[in-house]
Amino acid sequence: ATRRRWLFADQLGPHFLDDEPDRQVLLVVSKGVFRRKVYHRQKAHLVLSALRHRAAELGDRAELIVTERYRDAVTGPVEVCHPTSRAARELIRSLPDATMLPPRGFITAPGDFVRWADGRPRLLLEDFYRDARRRHGILMDGSEPAGGRWNFDGDNREPPPRGVRTLGVPPPPALAEDDIDAEVRAELDRWERDDGIRFIGRDGPRRFAVTAGEAQARLAHFLEHRLPVFGPHEDAMLREDPLMAHSLLSASLNLGLLDPLDVVERAEGEYRRGAAPIAGVEGFVRQILGWRDYVWHCYWYFGPRFEHRDALHARRSLPAWFAGLDPDGVGSACLRDVLTRVRDTGWVHHIQRLMVLGNLALQRDWHPADVADWFARAFVDGYPWVMTPNVIGMSQYADGGRMTTKPYAAGGAYINRMSDYCGGCPFDPKHRAGADACPFTAGYWAFLHHHRDAFAGNHRMRQPLALLDRLADAGEIAAAESRRRDF
Ligand code: FAD
Ligand code: SF4
Repeated sequence: ATRRRWLFADQLGPHFLDDEPDRQVLLVVSKGVFRRKVYHRQKAHLVLSALRHRAAELGDRAELIVTERYRDAVTGPVEVCHPTSRAARELIRSLPDATMLPPRGFITAPGDFVRWADGRPRLLLEDFYRDARRRHGILMDGSEPAGGRWNFDGDNREPPPRGVRTLGVPPPPALAEDDIDAEVRAELDRWERDDGIRFIGRDGPRRFAVTAGEAQARLAHFLEHRLPVFGPHEDAMLREDPLMAHSLLSASLNLGLLDPLDVVERAEGEYRRGAAPIAGVEGFVRQILGWRDYVWHCYWYFGPRFEHRDALHARRSLPAWFAGLDPDGVGSACLRDVLTRVRDTGWVHHIQRLMVLGNLALQRDWHPADVADWFARAFVDGYPWVMTPNVIGMSQYADGGRMTTKPYAAGGAYINRMSDYCGGCPFDPKHRAGADACPFTAGYWAFLHHHRDAFAGNHRMRQPLALLDRLADAGEIAAAESRRRDF
C-alpha cells in the first residue's frame, strides 16, 4: 500500500503531491506552535485557512487533525517532503516510520548549491545567481545574458518619482473570504479566550492567497499590471503607496502554493513577448531564482550555529512597543508608518524591512536572534529558513560578513532620498544632534563610533569611518549616543 503523504503547512500547492489520485494525505495543525510563540494574528489566520482550504480541496483523500504536538497526530507509516526547518527535520527523523523525500518548492538542487559553495570564502549572491541563470537557462540568449547584462540593479534603485504620492499601479484585487475563513476566525477567537493563546498585530480581512487558485490569480494580475513597472522604484518608499510595484507573492511562495520555477518562467515569458522591460524582469527573476533560493540554501549550508551568530556582540532586548507592534508613541514618520503597517497587515516591502526596521535594530544593538525571531512571528511570509539568513546574515551583519560585504546601516539621508517620509516628520534627517536630530542619523554615527574597531579592516567601510573621524568631536558623538533610544 502507498504511504500517506504528510504535508506541512508550507507544502500546500500541487507540486507537493504527485499525480496519484489514490494517495491519502495527512494535514496537521499543532496548537503547541502557537502556544510557544506569539504570532501575528493575520499570519495565524493565513496558515490555518490555507491548511483547511487544502483539506477541503482534497476531500475524502485528506485527514486534518488539530492537536497539541505533531507527534501525536503522525501515526503509522508516512512520507513527507523535506521540511523547511531544522526542528521539523529532527522531528521527522525521530518518528518510527517516516520516509523523507527530497525538498520541493525551490529551484536549485541542494547538491548543486553545495558544489558551488564549497571552498569559497564568501558566498555572494551575485555569483550564485549567475550560475543558477546558466544552469536553468533563465533569461539567457545562448551563453550570454538576455539584454547583454547580468545585473540591472543600477537601473532598479531609483528614488520615488518626484511630486507623486503613489506609483499609480493597480493594487491586486481584494480576496473574498469564505465560510472556512469565518470558521478560522472563530477558532482563533476561541484559542485566545479559552486557551490563553496570544497574538500580536490586528486582525483584518484576509489579504493573501490561501489556495493555489487564488495565488495563480494574484500572479497573473502581477504579471499583467505590476511587472512592467517592477524595476526602477523597487527600493523606493511612498507613504501613501505601501505596495509600490511589488508582487506580494512571498506568502504564497512560502506556503508552497506557487512553484518558483513556474513564476520565474512566466516572468521571462513577459519579457520575451515584449510586455515587460528586461531591467524589471531581471530584477524580479533575481529576487526568486537568486535571493529566495540563495537564502534557503544558506540556512542549511551554514548549519545550526548560524542562528546564534552575534559577531557585533549586540545584546539589547527589543523594546516592548516594537516587539508588540505598538507604534502609537513613535514620532519618527518612517518608523511609525512601517510599524503601523506591520501591525495592520503583517507585510511591508523589502526596503522597509531592511533599511527601516532592520537598520534600526542594527544601530541599536538589538540581539540578532531575537530580531530574527520577531520578524518570523510578525510577518505573514516569515519562516526560520528565510529569516535566519535575511536577518542574521544580511540585515544584522551578525555573521561577520559571510553574506554581505558591509553592514546595511544607514542614516536618515538614505531614507530621505528613497522616500517621502521626512517631509512629515518632526525630526530632520540632516541633524545628528539636538532636539530634532533624526534617530536614524544619530544612530548611524553612534553605531559606527561603537563598532569602529570591528570595521577597521573592511575596505568598504573606509570612507564612512574617514567621515566619522572628520565630523566627530567627542561631544557630538556623545549627543548622538544619547539620542539612540529616542524615536
Ligand atoms: P517582491 O519584491 O515582489 O519580490 C519577489 C519575490 O522574491 C518575493 O515574493 C520573495 O519570494 C522573493 N525574495 C525577494 N528577496 C528575498 C529575500 N531577501 N529572501 C527571500 N526571498 C526573497 N522574505 C520572505 O519571504 N519572508 C521573510 O520572512 C522575509 N524576511 C525578511 C526580513 C528582512 C530583515 C529582510 C531584509 C528581508 C526579508 N525578506 C523576507 C525578503 C523580502 O523582503 C520579502 O520576500 C519581500 O519583501 C516580499 O514581498 P514581495 O512578495 O512583494 O516581494
Ligand atoms: Fe525617518 Fe529621520 Fe526621515 Fe524622520 S527624519 S522620516 S526619522 S529618516
